[in-house]
Amino acid sequence: MQDPRSESPAAGTGPLPEVLVLGTGGTIAGVAPAADTATGAGYTAGVLGVEQLLVSAPGVHQHARLEFTQVCNIDSKDARPALWLDLARAVRDWRARAGTAGCVITHGSDTLEETAYALDCLLEPGSPVVLTASMLPAAALSADGPRNLFDAVRVAGDPAAAGRGVLCVAHGRVHAARDLSKQHPARIDAFGSGERGPLGFIDAGGLRFTREQPGAAQRPLAAPEASAEDARWPRVEMVCSHAGADGELVRALLAASAAGTLRPPLHALVVLGTGHGTVHQDLQAALDQAAAAGVRVQVVPRTGPCEGGEFDGLNAAKVRVRLLLEGLGAAQ
Ligand code: ASP
Repeated sequence: MQDPRSESPAAGTGPLPEVLVLGTGGTIAGVAPAADTATGAGYTAGVLGVEQLLVSAPGVHQHARLEFTQVCNIDSKDARPALWLDLARAVRDWRARAGTAGCVITHGSDTLEETAYALDCLLEPGSPVVLTASMLPAAALSADGPRNLFDAVRVAGDPAAAGRGVLCVAHGRVHAARDLSKQHPARIDAFGSGERGPLGFIDAGGLRFTREQPGAAQRPLAAPEASAEDARWPRVEMVCSHAGADGELVRALLAASAAGTLRPPLHALVVLGTGHGTVHQDLQAALDQAAAAGVRVQVVPRTGPCEGGEFDGLNAAKVRVRLLLEGLGAAQ
């Protein structure tokens, strides 16, 4: 849908960039009970429509000609991989129609890093794709959503953001999907890019990239075609090594898989290991059984992202996203 306010004249010179805003819900679209409007306590995520979010970001129409689509309106803790395909198709169709124009996706903060990385794996680099979120619901005092959305639109409309892979804009920082993670459950600056740091900054001075992202250009791992059958997604589960990890959970998964009661059957395990990725000897025995049964076992450090190798820079949730998409791509 085209936003009529986008017809207003540009604040600067030259034509305004076109930007599509896809709404998916999250705290940025959250509403608190009247009594808690000030603090945002007790809010419900995914209530306001994307059109209302754009109204709450004054000035945004002076930076882009906006179109918007509501893809869903959920708390992102409840996101499913099918959402990644829906969003990838929406971006692909938009690029086919609007060429170099950018795209913003409003999303919950909880699983933003999974969606951002999935899209990074599903889309060609190309025109800017920028996810944004908020930590406070829409009507809270000092709500951060309007500013984050405003900044995300400015980044999506800037040609300097093209070809860098999927980005996330929050709290004045621009992060790469590969590096980004939610690092605090409540702080306004909840997102970080670990030791690599953000790719750049967006503030009153405009957009500045302060480093390049090696390996941002990658081939799509799977085609984002709609999948009616969930069975096309492989089953990739996560287990954790810890004091007393005895491997019984893994054996139960293997038994259910072999009996045909676990559908789809177990394809891969992402194992959160201690230290550099060490695993309790009792859990390791069960993982050896899994590997012998043809299950892919990928150990990642419990302490932070993988260092070096195929999964360099990815945390456990993103390694799981990668294995899911590789499995989907292989089934296509
Ligand atoms: N639970 C919310 C969500 O992920 C949290 C947020 O958006 O900040 O949708």
